[in-house]
Amino acid sequence: MSPSEEEKEIPPRRFRSLPAWARGPATTSLHAARRPERNAGAVTPPIYQTSTFHFPAANSELGSTAEPYIYTRYENPSQEAAAETIRALEGGEAARVFGSGMGAVATTLVGLLSSGDEVLALDTLYGGTLGLLSELLPRYGIRVRWVSRAQAAEPEKLITDGTRLVFLESPTNPLLEVHDLARWASAADACGAISVVDSSIATPINQQPLRLGIDLVVHSASKYLGGHSDLIAGAVVGPTVLMERIRDAHLLLGSVLDPFAAFLLSRGMKTLAPRVTQQSRSAAWLASELERLPGIEKVHYPGRASPQEEELAHRQMLGRSGVLAFSLHGGLPAARRFLERLELVHVAASFGGAESLVSLPAETSHAGLTQAERSSRGIGEGLVRLSVGLEEPEALLADVVQAGRSA
Ligand SMILES: *Cc1c(COP(=O)(O)O)cnc(C)c1O
Repeated sequence: MSPSEEEKEIPPRRFRSLPAWARGPATTSLHAARRPERNAGAVTPPIYQTSTFHFPAANSELGSTAEPYIYTRYENPSQEAAAETIRALEGGEAARVFGSGMGAVATTLVGLLSSGDEVLALDTLYGGTLGLLSELLPRYGIRVRWVSRAQAAEPEKLITDGTRLVFLESPTNPLLEVHDLARWASAADACGAISVVDSSIATPINQQPLRLGIDLVVHSASKYLGGHSDLIAGAVVGPTVLMERIRDAHLLLGSVLDPFAAFLLSRGMKTLAPRVTQQSRSAAWLASELERLPGIEKVHYPGRASPQEEELAHRQMLGRSGVLAFSLHGGLPAARRFLERLELVHVAASFGGAESLVSLPAETSHAGLTQAERSSRGIGEGLVRLSVGLEEPEALLADVVQAGRSA
């Protein structure tokens, strides 16, 4: 028997008898992409480290082959395995993975917008997205209207029939403010605008925007989805009609996830649910402990800004966040001293890794804004962002206390 006949003997498996309750996110992230029948029975899918695929002898055969792969810039099974896991976790129709989170954001915007279109965007978006929308896309005739935190409470007053797309983040970075996604989704729907949420901080463990009516969810998979600070990747999930347009742009723009990085992403996502659940639990505990420390002025965590925000976070989120932020008495000099004295927590940009990371948004993610622009968004110079890792939370608290004491 040739190897290919052997592979065909393994029947495709379908879940026939498992009840819906057995298919929570932990189960989904382990089993959604399994295709042993395609991979010689392998429990861990192989890395398809190839740029190109055997092309059928005649073009007419293309439509009828079981393996429609042509070239890795278009599709590759290792990319598809990672995309399928994210699709299933978010509950969308289709998904694609990209070479970075910015690749996912840029491809989505370029794929869906045309010259003359108007975008509504929160003025607290991730720095890269802010740059794309404020500097690059306007050169191609795309107009952006910026929405402040206060204005964002009433999206119906902002979205008009001229709005093509709204771009949101919730919880926001670095202040962890929560926006009402269901309300934004229905306001956008009423005007025929596409709603997009960057859900990198929440992950599908803490929030599922598509289930709230949002059209597209984008991720920097470099953060929690990968989860080990060892890869750069992005993802987009949404309805097939929109994903086909994003695919067309993706093939031309070429923000491709290398098959090995796609494998690492799939491997990282096997533990997404326990990681994010544990990190969110530790972060919530640390947020309340930090509020009691004398050197700390204010703690930012989803739902803590006001009772209304707590009610909203409770309604729309499944959990909260593994990221928190706090300001120290003494501003930037105190924050710099604090970072220098941390012994356990790495001082580094990014978040979502297994190890805790700390950074000053004014000097990293929001360094592209002027001090006045940061201040108008509530991002003080001494604000510290902490991505809580998988260490014992008591160890993290001890490190924060010793660094703060000597600050
Ligand atoms: C990091 C990040 C991005 C960009 O992702 P990369 O993978 O670094 O390209 C986009 N949005 C948010 C919220 C991020 O944190």
